[in-house]
Amino acid sequence: MELRTTENQRMIADMIRDFGAKHIKPKMMEWDESQEFPIEVFKELGKLGLMGVLVPTEYGGSGFGYLEYVTAIAELSKIDGSIGLSMAAHNSLCTGHILQFGNEEQKGKYLPKLATAEWIGAWGLTEPNTGSDAGNMRTVAVQDGDHWVINGAKNFITHGKSGNVAVVIVRTGEVGDSHGMTTFVVERGTPGFSAGRKEDKLGMRASETTEMIFEDCRVHQSQMLGNVGEGFIQAMKVLDGGRISIAALSLGIAQGAFDAALAYSQERNQFNKPISSFQGISFKLADMATEIEAASLLTYQAADMKNRGLNVTKESAMAKYYASEVAVRAATEGVQIFGGYGFTKDYPAEKYYRDAKLCTIGEGTSEIQKLVIARAILK
Ligand SMILES: Cc1cc2nc3c(=O)[nH]c(=O)nc-3n(C[C@H](O)[C@H](O)[C@H](O)COP(=O)(O)OP(=O)(O)OC[C@H]3O[C@@H](n4cnc5c(N)ncnc54)[C@H](O)[C@@H]3O)c2cc1C
Repeated sequence: MELRTTENQRMIADMIRDFGAKHIKPKMMEWDESQEFPIEVFKELGKLGLMGVLVPTEYGGSGFGYLEYVTAIAELSKIDGSIGLSMAAHNSLCTGHILQFGNEEQKGKYLPKLATAEWIGAWGLTEPNTGSDAGNMRTVAVQDGDHWVINGAKNFITHGKSGNVAVVIVRTGEVGDSHGMTTFVVERGTPGFSAGRKEDKLGMRASETTEMIFEDCRVHQSQMLGNVGEGFIQAMKVLDGGRISIAALSLGIAQGAFDAALAYSQERNQFNKPISSFQGISFKLADMATEIEAASLLTYQAADMKNRGLNVTKESAMAKYYASEVAVRAATEGVQIFGGYGFTKDYPAEKYYRDAKLCTIGEGTSEIQKLVIARAILK
């Protein structure tokens, strides 16, 4: 496994730090408060090549691999997890699904627009009654000549309203049959496709999360990704890569929480000493630093394996599971180190604390990651 930071990774990290200081930090608490999804920031990130990190240059992307992708998401999430989450959903889920399973015509049509953020992408698997148990979904597509008619609802969808295009996995066969689901690309403006309720969330508040509703929504056969019955299997493969991006998101939040707590612990005096001089505080920092390092190794290991074309089902689940739990622990200890100030919006600790929790839930909860890992090691 390659552990050296590449020149590209360094360049991406510097670029994001610079961009974040100018365009994200000054406004992020406003967006958080009002739950505004800053589309213009996305367009700017697109111009920097961050909305098509893994898309080959021939389709207008940056043509990077997973190491650069992890660095980009982690660096962005150190600043604002909401922007990191949206970037991950756009790149790994919507764009990633079309990149992996689209035909040449579909890739030529959608990837250049998505890679430059001219269009924002959404990806719909989850439904109100089926989250972890996604295979039991009820949204259906029924064939009618050379069209398919979709009825049902998806919920918790990142960019479910602002997305110009959505990749949706729907039922085309029997409930309970893993080959009974199919993927379609549905463009915003298609009659019968609308956004529903926007969620009012604990954290990740600048990342838009809404329902997507389908009422007799007719899509042409040419909008199908792959073949009938492949949807669920495709989704699981997309999530293998997606989980690396949530591990990166977790890593960024954990590092951001740690950096803030480390600096504060050296500035804040109690009993005429910096609080970092108390063993009770320095041991917290030692635990945080060690766990972040371990999470980083797992995440870059999964990224390196993915670059080499290896199966990463187990490794991406391990990285996602461990890094997300580390993010929650680091953010919790971060608040503790800030004391009462950590409980206020004057310092960044409370936002890391709220944002971190999504990481143990989105793209498969920690319990589901353990199921995936257990299945892999028990076979
Ligand atoms: C901010 C946000 C953004 C999201 N973005 C998207 C998106 O863009 N696209 C999309 O499709 N989805 C998205 N999701 C949905 C997300 O992937 C689901 O919320 C997640 O998979 C969990 O599903 P659920 O919420 O229905 O919880 P449930 O599946 O109802 O789980 C509830 C609890 O039961 C546990 N549980 C369930 N089954 C088992 C089991 N077999 N063994 C042990 N424990 C179990 C879970 O771990 C959890 O603790 C998003 C969610 C959020 C909050």
